[in-house]
Amino acid sequence: MDKFEKIISQYRMIYDHHTHTVWSHGKGTIEDNVREASIRGLRSIAITDHGPGHLTYGIKMNKLGEMRAEIAALKEKYPSVEVLLGVEANTIRRKPYLDVSPEEGKQFDILLAGYHFGILGAGMVTNYMNTRTGMFDGDYSKLKVKNTAMIVDALYYNEDAGNHISILTHPGDKGPFDIQDIARACQDTGTLIEINDKHHHLTVEEIQIASVFDVNFVISSDAHMPKKVGSFEGPFRRALEAGLDPERIVNLEKI
Ligand SMILES: [Zn+2]
Ligand SMILES: [Zn+2]
Repeated sequence: MDKFEKIISQYRMIYDHHTHTVWSHGKGTIEDNVREASIRGLRSIAITDHGPGHLTYGIKMNKLGEMRAEIAALKEKYPSVEVLLGVEANTIRRKPYLDVSPEEGKQFDILLAGYHFGILGAGMVTNYMNTRTGMFDGDYSKLKVKNTAMIVDALYYNEDAGNHISILTHPGDKGPFDIQDIARACQDTGTLIEINDKHHHLTVEEIQIASVFDVNFVISSDAHMPKKVGSFEGPFRRALEAGLDPERIVNLEKI
């Protein structure tokens, strides 16, 4: 057992607020995820399928009633687990900078946001990839500025519009981003920065950059399979390697 393993074994995850189900492209049902959360002793789980702007597997806003009903039915069966209906909104490059408007945001218990491919209006791939060769042939530093602006605009605009983004998901994933500017915006908007189990962002280096700011961190499994719900060891290890104080990870608790 190395020194990090020992520390990891002294902590447990108390909630996992980023999980996917068959309502987008996860493998399990809402109940499958809640059952796993119950087995793992989590106090709370959020079902956060992909936002409606995703061209192939975004949630349909007119299905939220069905999802709510499914969650309500689980309350009696799994009384120890709070189940939130959330969404992982997609950042886009024009107002309101998310594919979930402030009006639509009110229909969810928790709002997450992150950058994803395959979103109408997100721009990164279509603007900068040569569609014939699939190679990046633009200006990397300009792309970084543009990508970062999209995230920062999404954070400030939605905070002002009463559409608070609770968690910024896997910052730094899928393209060049300036983590310093993003962390500053998270600090200003009270947004948690995620250390994600499925994607390797934040990386150790990115955690170090973000930790300079007055921000808190959250670990999420981003489970697309029920058995992954509650996984936190990998991201926690990155946090420890970065020298982050575990106290700054809001959903871990010392056993
Ligand atoms: Zn994501
Ligand atoms: Zn996700």
